[in-house]
Amino acid sequence: AEGEAAPVGHDLWEDIAEVLIPEDQLQKRIQELGETITEDYRGRDLVVVGILKGAALFTADLFRWIRVPASLDFMRIVSYAGTRTTGVHRVLLDLEYELDGRDVLVVEDIVDTGLTLRFLRDYLLPRNPASLRVAALLDKPSRRQVDVPIDYRGFEIPDRFVVGMGLDFNEKYRNLRAICVLRPEVYAAAGQE
Ligand code: 5GP
Ligand code: MG
Ligand code: MG
Repeated sequence: AEGEAAPVGHDLWEDIAEVLIPEDQLQKRIQELGETITEDYRGRDLVVVGILKGAALFTADLFRWIRVPASLDFMRIVSYAGTRTTGVHRVLLDLEYELDGRDVLVVEDIVDTGLTLRFLRDYLLPRNPASLRVAALLDKPSRRQVDVPIDYRGFEIPDRFVVGMGLDFNEKYRNLRAICVLRPEVYAAAGQE
């Protein structure tokens, strides 16, 4: 009604300000990454480690383009509240597999400050994998606080808080098929930014 703020969150697409990366570009790039990974690991077999929950959807799509023998495992790490990192990481779910002597590919949704990736490397390297590489769908280099290598990168994006394709804001919007930026009112309504 007139003078009243529209309710936020009742329709997924009404909360979207902008599509940053459309679905077809995401899928094309994920196929390319899978083909590169397949070439790089030919003759070996791989442990793919998806980082829940954000990378669940990217991991599922990428995994199906990897054409070498590969096992799939998951970890869950938390550090975020709203749109900001707390800088403190907690492992909520650890791996099922031993990594000793295995080629490991960690799959992340987005690398922002780099603190999560550094935590993961420090956490996994003592388990003596033969190799440890990282695939990240998105990279926000302007926000980096620590230098971490990304071996397979989907897209570089500007310093915007994005959702979709597994990435959430307060546990919503993971099911958007594109990478999107929310309307400012949505963040404001949740008391962020
Ligand atoms: P970092 O530790 O590199 O700062 O952040 C890594 C994690 O922060 C990501 O795995 C993701 O969960 C979260 N994150 C960083 N930037 C964004 C963003 O723009 N949108 C969402 N939804 N999560 C983000
Ligand atoms: Mg993540
Ligand atoms: Mg999150």
